[in-house]
Amino acid sequence: MHVGLQQPSPKNRDASDKIVCSLPGHIRGGGALTPTFEELKLWFSNPDNARKFFGNFETDENGCHLWKGPFWQSGHGRYVFDGTNTRTHRLRWIWERGRDIPQDLCIRHLLCKNKGCGNPAHLIGGTWSENNDDEKFIHGRPMAFGPGHDSGGEPGKR
Ligand SMILES: [Zn+2]
Repeated sequence: MHVGLQQPSPKNRDASDKIVCSLPGHIRGGGALTPTFEELKLWFSNPDNARKFFGNFETDENGCHLWKGPFWQSGHGRYVFDGTNTRTHRLRWIWERGRDIPQDLCIRHLLCKNKGCGNPAHLIGGTWSENNDDEKFIHGRPMAFGPGHDSGGEPGKR
C-alpha cells in the first residue's frame, strides 16, 4: 500500500528532487528502483518508452522472453526507468498483474531459471529465503545479494 505517498508523475520530477519515498525497495541512488504500477502506467503511456522496453525482449524456444540487454551483474535485465536502473523482470511482473510488488516480495525465476527472462508466466513471487533456495538449486550457492538486493549490485555489461 502506498497510503500517504505522493503519486509523483515521472514528468514532474527533476534531477535535484528525485521521487521521495520512504518505502524499502524504492531506493534511489546507485541501486535499483522498483516503480509502482501507477508510475509504470504513466511511463508506458509514452509509446516510445513502451516500444523500447517491450520491444527489447526476444522469445526463445522455451517461451522465455529474453531481455536483449543491458544486464545487472546478477544476470537480471537492466532497464533505465525515468533515469534510474530497474530490473526488467520486476517491471514485467508489475505490468502483467497490474499491481505493485508487495514489500519484501522477491520475484523469482523459478520456472525457467533464467534471470534474463521477463515472461510474466515464468515469474513467481516468493520470500527471500525461497529465492535463496532457488539460487542454491540453480547455481549451488546462495544469492550474492541478500534481502534488499535491489539496492545492491552494480550494473554490469554481460
Ligand atoms: Zn522464462
